[in-house]
Amino acid sequence: MEGTILVVNCGSSSLKVALFDAQLKKLSSGLAERLGKEDAFATVKGHPAQIELDALADHQQALSALVTVFRDDGLLDDAPAAVGHRVVHGGETFREAALINDDVLAAIKDCASLAPLHNPVNLAGIEATRALFPDIPQVAVFDTAFHQTLPEKAYLYALPSHLYNDWGVRRYGFHGTSHQFMANEAARILGKTPATTSIISAHLGNGCSITAIRDGNSADTSMGLTPLEGLVMGTRSGDVDPGLFDFLANQGVAPHEVHRLLNNESGLLGLSGQTNDMRTLCELADHGHEPSQTAIEVFCFRLARYVGAMMASLNHLDALVFTGGIGENSSLVRKKTLAHLSLFGFTIDDELNHHHGSISDGRIEGAESRFRVLVIPTNEELVIAREALASARPGMAG
Ligand code: AMP
Repeated sequence: MEGTILVVNCGSSSLKVALFDAQLKKLSSGLAERLGKEDAFATVKGHPAQIELDALADHQQALSALVTVFRDDGLLDDAPAAVGHRVVHGGETFREAALINDDVLAAIKDCASLAPLHNPVNLAGIEATRALFPDIPQVAVFDTAFHQTLPEKAYLYALPSHLYNDWGVRRYGFHGTSHQFMANEAARILGKTPATTSIISAHLGNGCSITAIRDGNSADTSMGLTPLEGLVMGTRSGDVDPGLFDFLANQGVAPHEVHRLLNNESGLLGLSGQTNDMRTLCELADHGHEPSQTAIEVFCFRLARYVGAMMASLNHLDALVFTGGIGENSSLVRKKTLAHLSLFGFTIDDELNHHHGSISDGRIEGAESRFRVLVIPTNEELVIAREALASARPGMAG
C-alpha cells in the first residue's frame, strides 16, 4: 500500500508500532515485549499466534519482525512514506514536531538528562528505524512540545533562578499529544475552532496529568520537570511535600530508593497495597476492601483539587474532558470527582455517565450543569501519524 505512515513508540523493554494509510486510517498495530530478555515476543493485531523473536531480541530486531508481518499482510510496500516517533522530552528546544536529522538527534540526546529513562530508548527506536529505512523521512513528536506555550508564571518553580538558568529546572509537562488531541476533539464536538476553545483535559491512564488549555494553548499542567508531579497515578505518588526527601534521608533511605518508592511503589498501588490497576481496585472496593476504597478516594479528591487549580488559568471553560483508560472507562471515578466540584456548578447525568458518553457524543454532564463534561477516547498514535505526515510532506497533511 502506498503512502503509509508508521508510528513507533519505544519503551525500555517494549516497542509499539502502528501503521496508517495516507488518509490516516489505522491499518494495523503491533507490540513487542520483554526485549533484551530470553523470552522476548511480539504480537500483531488480528494475528492469534505470537511472532517469534530471537532470545535477547533488541528494538531493531523487533521492528524488523513487525515490519515483515505488515509486508506479508500486504499492508506495507517496501517501506512506509514516513515514520513518526514518540519522543518523551524535547526540553525547550522543541515547540513542535521535528523532521529528524543529525542536529535534531543531537538535541534529543541533549535532553536526555531531563528524561534519563525515556529519551535514550526513544533514540534507540529512531536509530533502529533509520537503519531499516535509511531514505525515509522520520519525524520526532514530543510529549512536551504542546506545553511550550505555558506562561512563565506557570512553568517556573519558586527556586533560586540559577537552577532554571543553568540546568533547565522548570515545569515541562507531558502527555502533550493526548491533551492536544483533546483540545481538537472537544472543539469539533462543540462546533468551535480549537483557537477559541478552552478546556480542562484530564488524561487518566497508568500515568495521569491534567492540563488547562486556553484558546487552544496549554496554559497550565500538572506534570512538571518529570512525569512524577501532580495527580495520583498507578504507581507514582504525584505531589508530595518536598520535605519528604530530607525526612527519608534522615531515616537512612538512599536517593535511588526514594526514586523507586515514589515512581514504582506509590500511587494507587502504594495506597491500596494491592494493585495499580483501577479496574481491579474498583472490584476490590466493591467487595469492601478498605485500602482500595481509600486509594480511589484519594485519587478522585486530588483530581478534583487540580480541576479547581486549573480554573485559575482560564477566562472561560467550554468543557472538562476525561480521557485515558480510567478517564474513558471509570464512571465511578468521574462521578466521585465531579461530586467534589459542585461549588463550581458541575453536575453529572448518571445515565450518560454510565454509558461513558457513548450515547451522547461524549457528553455526561447533567442538564443543569454550569459546564459541559465530555468523555473522549484519546488517540496519541493518530496525532503522531498526522504530525509525521505534515512534517514529512508539507502541504499534504490529512
Ligand atoms: P492506560 O494507561 O490509558 O491504558 O490506562 C490504564 C488504566 O485504565 C488502568 O488503571 C486500568 O485499570 C484502567 N481501566 C481500563 N478500563 C477500566 C474500567 N473499565 N474501569 C476502571 N478502570 C479501567
